[in-house]
Amino acid sequence: MAYSYEAPVSQSLFDRASVVTPGGVNSPVRAFRAVGGTPRFMVSGTGPYLTDADGREYVDLVCSWGPMILGHSHPEVIAAVQEAVSRGTSFGTPGEGEVALAEEIVARIEPVEQVRLVSSGTEATMSAIRLARGFTGRSKVVKFAGCYHGHVDALLAAAGSGLATFGLPDTPGVTGATARDTVVLPYNDLEAVRAAFAAHPGEIACVITEASPGNMGVVPPADGFNAGLKELCAANGALYISDEVMTGFRTSKAGWYGVDGVGPDLMTFGKVMGGGFPAAAFGGRADVMAHLAPAGPVYQAGTLSGNPVATAAGLAQLRLLDDAAYAKIDAVSAELRSLVGDAFTKEGVAHTVSSASNMFSVFFTDEPVRNYDDAKKQEAFRFTAFFHSMLEQGVYLPPSAFESWFVSTAHDERAVERIAAALPAAARAASEATA
Ligand code: PLP
Repeated sequence: MAYSYEAPVSQSLFDRASVVTPGGVNSPVRAFRAVGGTPRFMVSGTGPYLTDADGREYVDLVCSWGPMILGHSHPEVIAAVQEAVSRGTSFGTPGEGEVALAEEIVARIEPVEQVRLVSSGTEATMSAIRLARGFTGRSKVVKFAGCYHGHVDALLAAAGSGLATFGLPDTPGVTGATARDTVVLPYNDLEAVRAAFAAHPGEIACVITEASPGNMGVVPPADGFNAGLKELCAANGALYISDEVMTGFRTSKAGWYGVDGVGPDLMTFGKVMGGGFPAAAFGGRADVMAHLAPAGPVYQAGTLSGNPVATAAGLAQLRLLDDAAYAKIDAVSAELRSLVGDAFTKEGVAHTVSSASNMFSVFFTDEPVRNYDDAKKQEAFRFTAFFHSMLEQGVYLPPSAFESWFVSTAHDERAVERIAAALPAAARAASEATA
């Protein structure tokens, strides 16, 4: 595909980056390989807008893959960061900020009685499954195809977006021994979970699932799916782990738990709770968390865990996320979903706008999408044309058809109007695309 627009400064930065960094990026999907073209190197962000190194401004529908729920450079978050930085950047001791952040999480999410802070969502899920194994004395982990839980060895099998984007074989570099302890099942299929428990009696430590998946595109759990997982885990002595790294503090004040009310044994968080800094967490039942060092024998640690600057940013962001903020995000999301759907309908493009609370994405199919296999059947080549038309018109979408789109409280009428103005041409480009 040829692109009618150029980004010379980004291109020269990408050329430099490609010499010193594999693929030129520090996280694969940023490289634009699924859609082609030059990845944009961003230099600043304000509210709903990003500005790239060539001086072009975009309405941002990625929001740093979820964290920037108040938009970029929110003055109160920036002030909290500046205040924290003025006192030092890391002490390697406990500090009040991490207590306050843990209290905020525990206050918002009833099933979380205790929480441990870490620095990335990957660390959170890795630690949660280690704890589940330590607690139960069992080895096997059940996960669902299309759910991504970070690049944890045991959880990379059939892990959705990044791997779908690149068509990579599941997990080179992960040993057979590790992979053998992972049971991968189709999403939204309770019968498969029942069968797995029957096939591995007394061996399954935990079932981990995205609370509402956003890494195969947005595919919400079917009615009763999460409740069924909880019930099956309880009946079989396994822990139910809900990964809320993406949905946590985004889909409601209490994340997806606030939407479906199904209380897991353990939960994982990241993204929004870090306010744009590396802060993440896992938590849950106090009797399970009591197995973590130093209270218990399961080891887990981190030099920068509970970092004072990251916790200040996260706390400032969470404190601004009240009912009114979520109402605003939900309303903007609903408006955009309807604009996007109308644009495709007008051009006769087969599509489904799939949503879970305020998270949403488009599948280029009108067949129902309930799992990863369904998601992969879409005409993803249409997304490429759509993406580039939007980019050219100043709207920054996730560079993959298998990612959620994110909005923020900063997406105001002006930002929505810019998106609305770009949609007709982009929908036409999608309709005219060929495989
Ligand atoms: N879990 C889920 C549901 C995610 O979406 C992600 C990242 O996108 C992770 C875990 C990993 O988080 P991180 O990228 O902070 O390691």
